[in-house]
Amino acid sequence: MTDKGNKDYMADEKGFYGQFGGAYIPEMLYHNVEQLRQQYKPIIESASFQQEFKKLLKDYVGRPSPLYYAQRLSEIYKTNVYLKREDLNHTGSHKVNNTIGQILLAKAMGKKRIIAETGAGQHGVATATVCALMGLECVVHMGEIDVKRQMPNVLRMKMLGAQVIPSMSGSRTLKDAGNEALRDWINNPEDTFYLIGSVVGPHPYPDMVARFQSVISEEIKWQLKEKTNSELPNYVIACIGGGSNAMGAFYNFLNDTSVKLIAVEAAGKGVNTDETAASIAKGSVGIIQGAKTYLMQTNDGQIIEAYSISAGLDYPGIGPQHAHLYNIGRTQIMDATDHEALEAAFELTRVEGIIPALESSHALAALKKLKFEKSDVVVVNISGRGDKDMDTYIANMDKYCQK
Ligand SMILES: *Cc1c(COP(=O)(O)O)cnc(C)c1O
Repeated sequence: MTDKGNKDYMADEKGFYGQFGGAYIPEMLYHNVEQLRQQYKPIIESASFQQEFKKLLKDYVGRPSPLYYAQRLSEIYKTNVYLKREDLNHTGSHKVNNTIGQILLAKAMGKKRIIAETGAGQHGVATATVCALMGLECVVHMGEIDVKRQMPNVLRMKMLGAQVIPSMSGSRTLKDAGNEALRDWINNPEDTFYLIGSVVGPHPYPDMVARFQSVISEEIKWQLKEKTNSELPNYVIACIGGGSNAMGAFYNFLNDTSVKLIAVEAAGKGVNTDETAASIAKGSVGIIQGAKTYLMQTNDGQIIEAYSISAGLDYPGIGPQHAHLYNIGRTQIMDATDHEALEAAFELTRVEGIIPALESSHALAALKKLKFEKSDVVVVNISGRGDKDMDTYIANMDKYCQK
C-alpha cells in the first residue's frame, strides 16, 4: 500500500496528479479535510492498522479472491484469460475493500458517526455493512428518486441499521445526495467521518481509496507468479465508473510499463448519443466533487447527468488519477455500450457459469475489441456479481440468451 516513491503516477503533497486532483472545497470543509489529510497516512501505514485490515480482509471478506483461469473463454478469444474474482467477496463486489479500510481509519480517528452518499445503493450497503460490523452510527444520503428506484438496497441498508435520508433538492439523484452529505459533514465536523466510495472527491480520498483497493493487484501479482511463473500479465482490463476497482487492479502494475492497463467506460447507448457515461470520450476538464478531472459538463460548466444500463457506472466524472494516467499515456481508455455489456454478460454466464455484475460486463466486452497473441496473459477484473442485476438480465433474456 506504499506509493513506492513513484511521483509520475502518485499524488503530490497537495493531492495533484499532474494537473488533476487537488481539493477544491468550500472554506467550511477545510478543517475536516485537512484533519483527514494529516492523519490518513500515518494511521494506515501503522502496523496495528495493517494487521487489523488484513485480518478483516481475510476472515470477513474472504480474501484473497481467486484468480481463475477461464479455459473456455480463453479458447474463444484465442489467448489466456484470467478472471480476478472480486464478485466472490462478502457483499458481492470490490467495494467492501475500501469501506473496511475507511471504517478502521474512522475508528482510529475517534469518529463515532459515519455518513455516505449513494446512487444505486451499492456503496450505501457496503458502508452500512461495515458500520454494523463496528457498531457505529450510519447515515446514508440518497436522492429521493433513487430511493424509489432502488428499494431492495434501501431495505438492506435499513436492515443493517443505517438511516437512509432521501435528498429532496435538485434532480433528487446522486449529485444531490453528494451535496447533502457535504452539508451534513459541515454541520457535524467533530464526530462525523465522510466515507467516499470511489477514487473521487477531494484529496486525500482518491489516494486513500486507491491504497485500500490496491490489494487487488497485490494479489494478482503473486497469484500469476504461482500460475504462470511470471507476476506480469500483458493486459489488465477493468471497468471504470469513478475508477476504484480499476485503480485497485492497476496500482501495483503502474511501474511495470510492459503491462497494458485498459479502463473501460460505459458508453450507454453510444458515445455519440446524449445517453452515455463516457466521461473521457465525452468530457472536458472541470471540477466535480472537489477534484479537477474529466467530467461531462455543458458549455457553462453544469454537470450533465450520466446514463448507463449499469447503475455503478453512471457517474459523470472519473477519478483524477485516472485522468492523469490517461493523459500521460500510461492507461488506455476504451468504451462499451449497454448492448456490448449485455452480450458479454450472457457469454460469460454461458461459457464459464459466472453471472457477472453489469459493470464488470463492460470490462469483459473489451475482449472482443482487442487483438491478442496466443501466448498473452490477460487479466479481467470481475468487480462484482450479477445478482443485483437480475431484473435487467431477465428483461433482456429473449434477445441475448441463446437457446
Ligand atoms: C460501484 C461498482 C463499480 C464502479 O465503481 P468503481 O469505483 O469505478 O470501481 C464497478 N463494479 C461494481 C460491481 C460496482 O458495484
